[in-house]
Parts: sequence; C-alpha cells; structure tokens
Amino acid sequence: MANHLNNNERQGLQRAPSQLVGPDYKSSEERPEATVSTAIQQKNVVILPQTPQLIALLTMIRDKNTNRADFIFYSNRINRLLVEEALNHLPVHPHTITTPVGRTYAGVKFEGKICGVSIMRAGEAMEQALRECCRSVRIGKILIQRDEETSKPRLFYDKLPEDVKDRWVLLLDPMLATGGSALMAVDVLRSKGVPEERILFLNLIASPEGAANFSKKYPRLRIVTAFVDEGLDEKNYIVPGLGDFGDRFYTL
Ligand code: URA
Repeated sequence: MANHLNNNERQGLQRAPSQLVGPDYKSSEERPEATVSTAIQQKNVVILPQTPQLIALLTMIRDKNTNRADFIFYSNRINRLLVEEALNHLPVHPHTITTPVGRTYAGVKFEGKICGVSIMRAGEAMEQALRECCRSVRIGKILIQRDEETSKPRLFYDKLPEDVKDRWVLLLDPMLATGGSALMAVDVLRSKGVPEERILFLNLIASPEGAANFSKKYPRLRIVTAFVDEGLDEKNYIVPGLGDFGDRFYTL
C-alpha cells in the first residue's frame, strides 16, 4: 500500500495545489500553471492574492541559486506587499476633505497609533518595508532563542515602545514554522497589555502547523502571509520553503 503514496503523503504533508496564474481575461495558454498557496481553514489567516507578480517574486527568493543581493531586493518587494495588506486591516474613520477645485470628497483617515515589533534577527529584515510605508514608525525588538538545555524557546531581550499597549502592533518574522518563538513574542506583548486583536503578525511563508498553533492559542490575532507551504521537515524547516531566511538575507 505504501508504494501508492507519494513523498508528501508518506510524510503526512498536504500536496501543494497548482493553479493557472494571471487575470481571467487571458486565455489558458497565456496563464502558466504554478504552485500556489495551500488553502487553510483558519479564518484569522489572510493570504495575499496569488498573482503572477507575487509568484514570480517568491520564485526568486525560493531559488537556491539566487544571490544575496537579489534575495534582499525581492524579499523586500514581498515585505512591501505584506505591509500594504496589513495596513488594510487597521481601523479608519470617515474624513471629508475639500479638493483644490472646491469640491468635497468623502474619504477616510487612519485612526489609532501603530508600531512594529521585529523578532530578531530575521524579523529585522522586514523593518525597511514598514518604514517605507509608515514614516518614522516606532519599532521595538524581541530576541528569543532556543535554550540549548531544554530545546524550548527562551526570551533573552525585549525593548518595546513604552505605550505599546495603546498601539496596533505589526509583529515581524519572515518564516512561521512551528510558531514557538512568535507565540512567545505574543505572550510578551500580551504581558505589556497589548490586546490580542490589535496584533497583526506578518510573515512571508507560513507552515500549516504554525498557522494552526497560532489560531488555537490566539484566534483573534490576524496573520498576514504571502504563502502557506506544504509543511515542516524533521528539522522544522518549512518545505519547500527557502532555507534559512536570516542566513540568506544577512550572511550568505
Ligand atoms: N526559519 C527559517 O529561516 N526557515 C525555515 O524554513 C524555518 C524557520
């Protein structure tokens, strides 16, 4: 029987879906088939639209032959898309203005303060995109590392804006694998008084396991991701993934 199972099924991973990518007005010959995000049930997970642009950017950063300069450039492009999407989830109130030709326009205005919190070191790679969208935004830091003795995540350092509890928090970490570190980061934010529903967790690639762990513990927190991958390997790397994000961004 086991012979009938493909590799993914043997490892208990979901088969990644394929889809024609591109706008509907194009013929199927003009819309190539590509692997798109795995659909998941959790309602609090927002997955970016699987456009040809996003798939092309992800293809660049997933490729093991992509050099560091291109990895930085293309991951920054995806980070921008994530930040722009996250901003759509912030509250706005009605705001009417007058245009230079004397007419009124019924628009909206952001309400409430925001800040970024990056989980060091990989999360710091997402700060530039946040700064490009939100000038002079405050950014806090959290350092969590695996304890060598217990193998459990351990908090080493946190520095957050004093009024963090009054802000919307964009929590930054590019890879949501098991979610262990990010869940601990949310625990830190909660201990400072940040309500769960005011946290938006931004990542480039999430595993179904990580998304499920998050939704179970923090169902009102919103995850904004570019892609949900097939799963995790035995070393808890996301597959197919892109390898170690921090290494590829900072050191390779
Ligand atoms: N962190 C990474 O950088 N890559 C993974 O695949 C998982 C966690």
